[in-house]
Amino acid sequence: MHVFSIEGDEGNKRTVVKNPNGCVVTCTGCDPICPAGAIKHPSKQEFREKIRKLRKNPDFQLRKKMT
Ligand code: SF4
Repeated sequence: MHVFSIEGDEGNKRTVVKNPNGCVVTCTGCDPICPAGAIKHPSKQEFREKIRKLRKNPDFQLRKKMT
């Protein structure tokens, strides 16, 4: 999803979050891949609570895919 990008020169490379909006909702696929354990996502329960709170906000709107 092109969320991460590798930047820097040989011997000085680092991974950066380049496109956080490309992340798939509820996916946690990169959690177990990071060798440093640096990537963590909320649990499904925490995620559901967050969505419930967002939906109560009158300014919240789901983005519709443009075709
Ligand atoms: S959570 Fe899933 S979609 Fe998001 S960056 Fe990780 S693997 Fe990619």
